[in-house]
Amino acid sequence: MVAKHALEQRNKYASWLDEEDAVVVANALLIIIGRALNMLKSQIEAQGKNFEENGGFGERLMARHLEAREQQRSADAPECPQCSKPMRRRKSAKGDFWGCSGFPDCKGTRAI
Ligand SMILES: [Zn+2]
Repeated sequence: MVAKHALEQRNKYASWLDEEDAVVVANALLIIIGRALNMLKSQIEAQGKNFEENGGFGERLMARHLEAREQQRSADAPECPQCSKPMRRRKSAKGDFWGCSGFPDCKGTRAI
């Protein structure tokens, strides 16, 4: 995208860039650089606006995490056999099971 833009600028200013007069070439280069800086500025502004609207990566990750966590709380969750707190559905290599929401203080589990 940026490279394409740069090539377009090169073509647009070709006649000045190929000029014999070094001052004309220098001026053309300065104009191109100025335009490139403007383009970068608007890209950075767009990124800032996007961040304002959608939040950063970490924020979106946290939202997904909370969502996944909420899904672990099901209405039909049993009580912990050891402390009576509600249980959460957990995943392990051996399969799903109910684990105490008080984990790690309570290690109570139930089979699903
Ligand atoms: Zn418990």
